Amino acid sequence: MENQVVDKIRNLTSKLSETLLKPGLIEADENELFRKDIFTELASKGIMGLSLPREFGGSGLPPSAFLAAIQELSYFDPGMAVTISVHSGLCGGVIFRNASEELKKEWLPKIAKGSVIGAYSLTENHAGSDPSSMKTTATWDNGGWIVDGEKMWITSGSVADFSILYANTIKNGENLGISAFLVPHDLKGVSSEKINGKLGMRTSDSSILVFDKVVIHESMMIGSPGKGLSIALEGLDYGRLGISAVSLGIHKAAFDSMVKYAKEREQFGKAIASFQLIQEMITDVAVNLESGLLLFEKAVKKLEDSKKFTKEAAIAKLFTSESAVTASDRCVQVHGGYGYSNEFPAERFYRDSRVLTIFEGTTEVHKLLIGRLLTGMDAFRN
Ligand SMILES: Cc1cc2nc3c(=O)[nH]c(=O)nc-3n(C[C@H](O)[C@H](O)[C@H](O)COP(=O)(O)OP(=O)(O)OC[C@H]3O[C@@H](n4cnc5c(N)ncnc54)[C@H](O)[C@@H]3O)c2cc1C
Repeated sequence: MENQVVDKIRNLTSKLSETLLKPGLIEADENELFRKDIFTELASKGIMGLSLPREFGGSGLPPSAFLAAIQELSYFDPGMAVTISVHSGLCGGVIFRNASEELKKEWLPKIAKGSVIGAYSLTENHAGSDPSSMKTTATWDNGGWIVDGEKMWITSGSVADFSILYANTIKNGENLGISAFLVPHDLKGVSSEKINGKLGMRTSDSSILVFDKVVIHESMMIGSPGKGLSIALEGLDYGRLGISAVSLGIHKAAFDSMVKYAKEREQFGKAIASFQLIQEMITDVAVNLESGLLLFEKAVKKLEDSKKFTKEAAIAKLFTSESAVTASDRCVQVHGGYGYSNEFPAERFYRDSRVLTIFEGTTEVHKLLIGRLLTGMDAFRN
């Protein structure tokens, strides 16, 4: 029954993606445009709330339904898929699992409806792989928190209505550690600067977010003081599945594209698909796609069985992101010179996939994380 629901969502999203995301995609990519009208239209079809609970305006479906939708969206427009993964999966998930009932009641229905867009403000200029070294502060003053700092590379930063923000919390001169806050972007002192010139994922907005003496009511803290880093890292377990789903979507698109081209293109009087070396590339990409799907499904199953899934999610993210980059590279290769021009989508798969091994934890960070889980020894600072 559950699989039937997931299949239905997959099919529906696939059709929606083709009709909504495909038209205008090349122009949006060229001009680095986030298509808010399409985000809103996807929201009106219920995509944002698929796996958020019914009591908060969602559809209450299992995570696999939302992740299947992310895969299908990524097949056409991974930039939009990443935006939605951050908005609904990361922001919605962190609020649902950690925020007060009041915050949940106020914000989750808006997230599910897509009437607001969420951003996940963790990374800073000097604090990427090591978020514990962040410099943003929230200082207690007169019954509220005053936030000062700058966040870097924030997906949807310039188009979002709120952030899940992480900051060092300081009360009476004492640093209580990193805490999480829900910060509406219409508060005085919040500003953004769009980052232009990205290699790929150009249909998603990436921005610098500045918080200049922003006054936040104490009720906007998510979880308790000092618990922010564990909330952030737990959130990234879920986020990794989102990026894994995006990776699988791009991988499948690259695979389909290379097979189609190989069957059409002729050299030496034959379709290039008939050459053994071309078939080797196609086979390698197919084997990695199937393997990645199994790793991804294993991690999602653990999550849905309410078991700890940190290691499985990290393994799935590591493998599927690296495989998607390789698949896109092989897709370009099979297209020959045409793969190197924007006449075919191969070059876009190549550009879009490249960040998959960087954001929400680099490949190296994932190897260290998995290594620590397997050995019990921390190699992050050695
Ligand atoms: C398009 C895009 C969207 C993003 N969206 C968001 C977002 O929405 N929210 C957010 O908070 N962040 C976001 N990020 C930031 C992203 O998560 C970081 O870029 C990433 O975590 C890496 O941090 P860094 O760029 O500072 O690289 P660094 O941490 O400086 O790493 C540089 C290199 O050093 C390696 N390295 C670092 N530490 C070690 C170690 N101990 N051992 C071995 N190698 C190491 C890394 O693997 C990497 O190869 C986004 C980034 C991009 C590019």
